[in-house]
Amino acid sequence: MTLEKQGLGLLTEALATLEQGFASLPAVQHDSDLPAMRSVLLEVAERMQDNFPFHHPQYAGQMLKPPAEIARLAYMLATWINPNNHALDGGRASSVMEREAVANIAAMFGWQTHLGHLTSGGTFANLEGLWVAGNLHPGKKILASAQAHYTHSRICGVLKIPFQSVPVDHRARMDMAALEDLLRQGDVGTVVATLGTTAVGAVDPLPEILKLQKQYGFRIHVDTAYGGYFILADNLDAEARAAYDCIKEVDSIVVDPHKHGLQPYGCGCILFKDPAVGSWYKHDSPYTYFSSNELHLGEISLECSRAGASAVALWATQRLLPMTRSGEFAARLSQSRAAALKLFDKLQQDPRFITAAEPQLDIVVWIVKAPSASASSRLASAIFELAQQHDLHLAQANLSRSLFTNAIANADAEMEWDQDTVTCLRSCLMKPEHLAWLDKIWALLDAVTNQVLAEAA
Ligand SMILES: *Cc1c(COP(=O)(O)O)cnc(C)c1O
Repeated sequence: MTLEKQGLGLLTEALATLEQGFASLPAVQHDSDLPAMRSVLLEVAERMQDNFPFHHPQYAGQMLKPPAEIARLAYMLATWINPNNHALDGGRASSVMEREAVANIAAMFGWQTHLGHLTSGGTFANLEGLWVAGNLHPGKKILASAQAHYTHSRICGVLKIPFQSVPVDHRARMDMAALEDLLRQGDVGTVVATLGTTAVGAVDPLPEILKLQKQYGFRIHVDTAYGGYFILADNLDAEARAAYDCIKEVDSIVVDPHKHGLQPYGCGCILFKDPAVGSWYKHDSPYTYFSSNELHLGEISLECSRAGASAVALWATQRLLPMTRSGEFAARLSQSRAAALKLFDKLQQDPRFITAAEPQLDIVVWIVKAPSASASSRLASAIFELAQQHDLHLAQANLSRSLFTNAIANADAEMEWDQDTVTCLRSCLMKPEHLAWLDKIWALLDAVTNQVLAEAA
């Protein structure tokens, strides 16, 4: 058995309970054509076999994580009502659940008051964050690091806000000297700090950005779509810990429950520290509305229709696995990080590979030792492809040479840079099971690498 399905029976019982709430209504006849549905559903099941095994621990490639079983069940249960959280009347229960779930996320970051809501994903959540930032600092630049998510510059294009990217250091974090240079030039309205970059999981030095804010005065938007929940982990390095510890001082935060929050896709979250920014969303309700407790989600969101089921699934997940530092949810994140550190250790001790700097979250990137960047890239792609044939799923990334020059020197190796980027192997060890599976994953990688190197020799 590789698919989790023990909880499926609970759905029938929960559905009966849900139905009791509508027992006063006259019965409705439902004539389902079961044989026809069965045949279509089985066809769907066959079609869906054409996927990488995202749910399995031997999938250790891209940023993909299966939802919690409770999330899947609660989401499906909610679809019988199919609430729309664009307005209270579209889903009374799910709107309240969204408010509670979002308040829990805000509390995780240290905010007792906030304005926020769920979105279809991180991109839309960032769009709202940058839209408010642009409204507050009209005409001024938004800065984000060269390793920030690619959508920031595109969002700024959509919003017609000038955007500039800030170079990164050899660990893929925003370079503070480069940031200060740009700040000195002036006209900066907002700095986007990424806590957990998408490619390598680097954490921008937020404490230093906050120091610069005191001197230069700008808004700070934190994009922690990927990394946000790591605030709960107990095994961060000192710099990442320091960044998360001061996250409450920023102006807006994006986190994706559909990345590390165990949710099915369609669940991002935007949070603002100052509830008064709700006035920018105003379309037909008085300003005072936004600071009252009667949060009307449709009036603080740029999107109209949104799946109430997403909020229900998130609420149920938080109920089962509370976001506390000592709870199981946090322990699972720490396990992912431990898996990344373990893989990093093994790679570092192996003469066939060269790793980038120590991972700050749970993403590991490494290159294959070779005389040139192009030869290294070819070997990485060959390992990636052969591993896939052996049911080990990694990812590839083209990354700048600057991430590896220190490591290459430290390894006393030499590599000719006949191109500016190098194809790396990349592994997001997002599942807590990855820790227990790491020896198996390593054995597969070891065998595949030996085969590729032997064939190349
Ligand atoms: C994934 C990601 C995004 C985009 O979020 P989507 O949910 O894919 O739209 C933005 N920023 C960071 C740092 C991310 O990792």
